[in-house]
Amino acid sequence: SIYGDYIKSVIRTVPDWPQEGVNFRDITPLLQNSAAFRKLIDSFVHRYQEMELDAIAAIDARGFIVGAPLAYELGCSFVPVRKKGKLPFQTISETYTLEYGEAEVELHADAFRKGDRILLVDDLIATGGTMLAAAKLITRSGGLVVETSTIVDLPDLGGAQLIRDAGYSVFAVCS
Ligand code: IMP
Repeated sequence: SIYGDYIKSVIRTVPDWPQEGVNFRDITPLLQNSAAFRKLIDSFVHRYQEMELDAIAAIDARGFIVGAPLAYELGCSFVPVRKKGKLPFQTISETYTLEYGEAEVELHADAFRKGDRILLVDDLIATGGTMLAAAKLITRSGGLVVETSTIVDLPDLGGAQLIRDAGYSVFAVCS
């Protein structure tokens, strides 16, 4: 992507967090740097400004950081995809498996109209389980997932491939 190498240079790797052997990719230095944050949002705007989108759906919680300014800039609605138990109105949910146990993402039943063109965003794709569950949830609700989009993809974990194999397009600002 246009600023991919630069964005990658302002993401910090924290070894052995949250557990030994894990290299956690920490985007907070990127958010602290106003020029970098602007370039990040501009990377997404550049890719999506010509696509006719109805809504940005963003995954709880770091997906919101990207999704809200993008919805503002592109002039489309904002839809939160939340972790289980956070949404007050009628919901639909999708369960997926983690390394240890299960997780669930939820969407309000009236979040968008059938046939709406939705861009799904999150901060990072690791195994791809979270993004894929959210994409399936939107599809089940009658939305058209135009693309799944992330700041960081970790290609060694095969998540983007898993999502593509399920029939969704994937964009990453950096890998
Ligand atoms: P996946 O479902 O295995 O692809 O994990 C992706 C989800 O976990 C995203 O919602 C991320 O916010 C979070 N996540 C996993 N690993 C990292 C990381 O290294 N940095 C930041 N977030 C991560």
